Amino acid sequence: MPVKKFACLLICLLLCLPTAAWAEEPTIRVEIQPHQVRYSFDLPEYSFVYVTYDTANDSGETVLYAEDGHFEGVCQLPGTFEASRMGLNVYTLGQRQLLQTRLDLPDFSDEQAAGLSAEGAASRPENAAIWASPEGVHYSFLVPDRDTIVLRCKSAQEWHKITLYAPDCAYAGTVAMPFTYADDTMTVTVQSASGATLLEESLLMPYIPPAVPVDIPSARLQGLVVCIDPGHQRATQVETVQAGPNFSTMKTTTVGMAKGAVTGRMESQLVLEIGMKLRNVLMELGASVCMTREIQDTFVGMLDRADIPNRVNADFVLRLHCNSRSGSENVQGIEVYCPLSSSYAQQVADINSYRAMGETMLLAMQDATGMHKGACTLNDTYVGNNWSMMPSFLIEMGYMTNSEEDLLLSCPQYQDRLVQGMVQGIISLAQARGLIN
Ligand SMILES: [Zn+2]
Repeated sequence: MPVKKFACLLICLLLCLPTAAWAEEPTIRVEIQPHQVRYSFDLPEYSFVYVTYDTANDSGETVLYAEDGHFEGVCQLPGTFEASRMGLNVYTLGQRQLLQTRLDLPDFSDEQAAGLSAEGAASRPENAAIWASPEGVHYSFLVPDRDTIVLRCKSAQEWHKITLYAPDCAYAGTVAMPFTYADDTMTVTVQSASGATLLEESLLMPYIPPAVPVDIPSARLQGLVVCIDPGHQRATQVETVQAGPNFSTMKTTTVGMAKGAVTGRMESQLVLEIGMKLRNVLMELGASVCMTREIQDTFVGMLDRADIPNRVNADFVLRLHCNSRSGSENVQGIEVYCPLSSSYAQQVADINSYRAMGETMLLAMQDATGMHKGACTLNDTYVGNNWSMMPSFLIEMGYMTNSEEDLLLSCPQYQDRLVQGMVQGIISLAQARGLIN
């Protein structure tokens, strides 16, 4: 090979190497369609990101989750008709920019021309019906003499501002709110094209529990009775009860519960969601399951939480909670609490055996979730544990005061892992106690 040619090849190689490395840099891939832009990007180091988008007429912000770092989403742009620029930005949840892109959108005006009716005092929407379902916010109303309005939907996790055009001034449709959690509050505002508020409503994203399984494909846990006790309820009611069957001390309800550092969610809703998933998986395996509550708006007292499993003669009771530690936001992990010196607990198992059961449950959950921080503790603190006549475990599934764990706890895939861990724990304990093969 002539020296000159070799040198040329070498230079090319050197030039190509960094180019190849740059080609690995993540970019936002987009697919432009009339009134919507689909996007995707890969950020393997992240599970959660924050995305913002805006055109002259439509904009929004949303949290995205991807277990494998491959994120996908859609920007709904119902009010963007003319050729315009769109900005799309990706941030960490701590507001550090990761990716950004600017797009030139084509003219969609041949479909329908935006009205942007005259300024002046707009009247209040008539026949207004605004409600929420897991699909999003549904709206239907009439704004006399206004063929253009702006609709804003805001929750803790996302907001969308869209411009709507209706030549007959009658508006109806749905705004998707895919990242707004069940039981979360949303604000919906109807504004005139010039920004005057015409109507504002506060809505709750409903919680639709999973349907009771009808087919029982496996009889692995046939004959086993498990009680699931989702901790708390929407509103606290203070009561004072005897701390345990052999205790003279009284215990008064601790007011309050954990609240999500990022999600703002209530512990009572989170443990209900996970409890209902756990119920279904146990039932699918053939177990009988008893729930201390299946709704938020109810009251289950401290003693009820042991009386209910005692009455159905449950083999185990799992008492689901989420933890919080203000001032120590880095603390994470799963914690399992068992009773220590209650006379009922002593009839169930001696201290060492009880500890071994709690550790079996903890280990199963650590294996299933990959969360290896946490501990098993025996104490006299929990009334429900003290009064239970069967193995009773109060499980703190994670810290809602920790941003990462707070988001994970609301993430369906992580909830499934927690459920798998608890199911495996139940299977191991039922085998050890000779209840199943
Ligand atoms: Zn709790």
